[in-house]
Amino acid sequence: MKVLVTGGAGYIGSHANRVLARQGVETVVLDDLSNGHREAVTEGRLVVGDMGDRALLDELMTAEKFDAIMDFAAFIEVGESVENPAKYYENNVVKLKTLLDAAVAHKIRYFVFSSTAAVFGEPRYVPIDEAHPREPINPYGMTKRIGEAMLDDYGRAYGLVSCAFRYFNAAGDAPDGAIGEAHEPESHLIPRVLRAAKGGRAMKVFGTDYDTRDGSCVRDYVHVEDLAEAHYLGLRHIMETNESEQFNLGSSEGFTVLELIREAERVTGGKIPYELAERRPGDPATLIAANKKAKEILGWEPKRSDLTTILRDAWNWEQNRKY
Ligand code: UDP
Repeated sequence: MKVLVTGGAGYIGSHANRVLARQGVETVVLDDLSNGHREAVTEGRLVVGDMGDRALLDELMTAEKFDAIMDFAAFIEVGESVENPAKYYENNVVKLKTLLDAAVAHKIRYFVFSSTAAVFGEPRYVPIDEAHPREPINPYGMTKRIGEAMLDDYGRAYGLVSCAFRYFNAAGDAPDGAIGEAHEPESHLIPRVLRAAKGGRAMKVFGTDYDTRDGSCVRDYVHVEDLAEAHYLGLRHIMETNESEQFNLGSSEGFTVLELIREAERVTGGKIPYELAERRPGDPATLIAANKKAKEILGWEPKRSDLTTILRDAWNWEQNRKY
């Protein structure tokens, strides 16, 4: 089996690329390296290029005869998407359409898609299952909501079979320390907490008056390695059934920002300096996934998604980063 991994030099894509290789799947990574890292592509061939470049896609797809595409090539920052929605619609919608059109033209039937809990917007209930209404509250979430709609429509009209995964908070790094999270600038909580542990500069806790156990936001952290494994299982599943599916991926446990800081202090053995700060616009109070569907249908089992293991792997990466 041969898979095109778009965005395979990025955080989640690079982990999925490794899991595919481990399963004996041949991969080609297409990444423009706008946010990805050459060093993150530890398996398969890297083609540096733009998934919105139809001529490049035609050339690649003619030469390689892919069975499936896994698409991780998206911009993911909520705040940036509010300030610069054009960038998000261009990349996450317009270029996605180019990729889907090429897939249809080259008869690549199977498509695994990175979606997000942000498609749900402000939760009406938690844990959030797959039936929860999708009412995104920021442009990033909207681009992924549109992506999901495009997959549905392309499925009905052109026979594309897809699997969309809505990630909750992707976290942690490869257990062997080979690859890991490297965003620039880094906006995510766990790397910021661990940098504060290392460097001594205080990090900020965004919001202390939410309706939660201690007033800070509750999130569901899921290990990137577990996410990567779900992608392989999802691909196998849609190839067997020829039916499109959507799954929410999380640990189904929620932790507040302050609880996470305390656990990070235990794991790192040091004090984490922090300041209480204003809410960050666009943050829902609580996001927790229902993961029953992925468990039942895919046989997915999050193996490393307890907070301690996530923080240990992340701390190992933070101290021994390769890029
Ligand atoms: N957060 C925080 N300080 C930071 C970064 C994040 O308090 O420096 C909070 C943020 O408000 C949210 C949670 O940590 O409640 C997780 O944020 P992150 O950006 O990691 O992921 P998101 O939930 O936005 O996908």
